[in-house]
Amino acid sequence: MVVQSVVLKRMFDTHKAEYEEAVLRSLNSGWYILGKEMEEFEKQFALYLGVKHCIALNSGTDALILAFRALGIHEGDEVIVPANAYIASVIGVTENGGTPVFVDADAHMEIDADAIEEKITDKTKAILPVHLFGQSSRMDKIVELVRKYNLKLVEDCAQCHGSKFNGKYAGTFGDIGCFSFYPTKPLGAMGDAGAIVTNNDALAEKVCLLRNYGSKTKYHNEINGVNSRMDEIQAAVLKVGLKYLDDGNEIRKVMALKYKNGIKNPRVFIPEKYAEVEHVYHLFPVLVEDRDSFQKYLNENGVRTQVHYPIPPYVAECYSDWGYGWSDFPNAESFAKQEVSLPIYVGLPNEELQYVIDVINNYR
Ligand SMILES: *Cc1c(COP(=O)(O)O)cnc(C)c1O
Repeated sequence: MVVQSVVLKRMFDTHKAEYEEAVLRSLNSGWYILGKEMEEFEKQFALYLGVKHCIALNSGTDALILAFRALGIHEGDEVIVPANAYIASVIGVTENGGTPVFVDADAHMEIDADAIEEKITDKTKAILPVHLFGQSSRMDKIVELVRKYNLKLVEDCAQCHGSKFNGKYAGTFGDIGCFSFYPTKPLGAMGDAGAIVTNNDALAEKVCLLRNYGSKTKYHNEINGVNSRMDEIQAAVLKVGLKYLDDGNEIRKVMALKYKNGIKNPRVFIPEKYAEVEHVYHLFPVLVEDRDSFQKYLNENGVRTQVHYPIPPYVAECYSDWGYGWSDFPNAESFAKQEVSLPIYVGLPNEELQYVIDVINNYR
């Protein structure tokens, strides 16, 4: 048996007729940019999260870049970010000239909230928790620090659509929540798409200008903007996806439980989630000391896996000028060297999931 790590066609097929109807509807409308589909999606996603505004954008990376731009982050400003983030999280800071200040991960693979305070300086302007794998970071502690030091809070929610901390949606704790709708994400488009959410009217207005050349009225460019609009076809697709977001999160939660109960191999460690978190299992990470031979063994037995992420941003080639070494953030380093993401997605047949468990349990 061959088990792919993700099969997007299966996700599409689950609601094929509705996706096709949505795409054809937008094609036939004759209106492709900044239209009704996008406006409706913005309203629906804001309603889902219980926030005032959603501004639909081109990608999750743009959401992060424009969030920091709208908040006025610029050269000389420091932003606290997790050492084991995805590179796009850091790009949001560096594209605005800001300096990312890394904080190591805790045992749950999220930013270590207890290690943030010692990194705060008089240059610190914001904290960027990256809710990895579908799990919200420790927002109780992070919100406390944001209040204490009067900082901005931007959440990277690219992997956690629908995840909650103490019953509150990730993305709604701070000034701006940034979402990606990359096709594999818990809420995915059929192309690139992203959004920011906020309860702040002025920030919503600003991002709205930024995404459309800095203008509200054609040819009146109030600020220096970009083009980061979500197109109508993606918005129509996302309206379908949003209807089934909770279902999909539930389906992956059941799969995660099967992995947790089924995997019984002392060499394969499953990190615990926080008790306060409703996890949506965008990914299912396990940790294995001899990752290369584990992945090779899985591969030989037909099980395809991914690594999130083999090279953490603080040692990325493009940031080599900062001079960080692998061992500067020991937990991030060991996650980067031991993490393996098992197949988990809507449409993964139960036999395939069970096969993955059996193969893992036979690993010696
Ligand atoms: C996917 C992802 C992004 C980037 O989103 P794009 O839509 O691909 O630009 C940012 N941060 C995290 C944590 C992600 O997983």
